[in-house]
Amino acid sequence: MADQRRCFACGKMLPPGALAYRLRATFVADYDQVITEDPEETDMDALLEQCLAMDAETLERDVYEEVTIILCKTCKDATVSRLLRDKDKNPGPDVPIEP
Ligand SMILES: [Zn+2]
Repeated sequence: MADQRRCFACGKMLPPGALAYRLRATFVADYDQVITEDPEETDMDALLEQCLAMDAETLERDVYEEVTIILCKTCKDATVSRLLRDKDKNPGPDVPIEP
């Protein structure tokens, strides 16, 4: 028997066979090719020490993270609407962002 599923957003229990959606999100750190720190003034030893003090999992999550959640149809529709609502203001990575 399948495990009980619950909508991540609203918490509603999803009975066996109920329509549900799996949302898979991948977060990848974006790089705009701008480095604000002056390499001449950056203490590389201190920076390296700071990185070494962090655990590998935290460092990895800062640059790449995958998340998977289950949503009911109502929450899926609301999530899609929310994600696409301001699409014109925040174009995808292939479109240059105007300052
Ligand atoms: Zn829901």
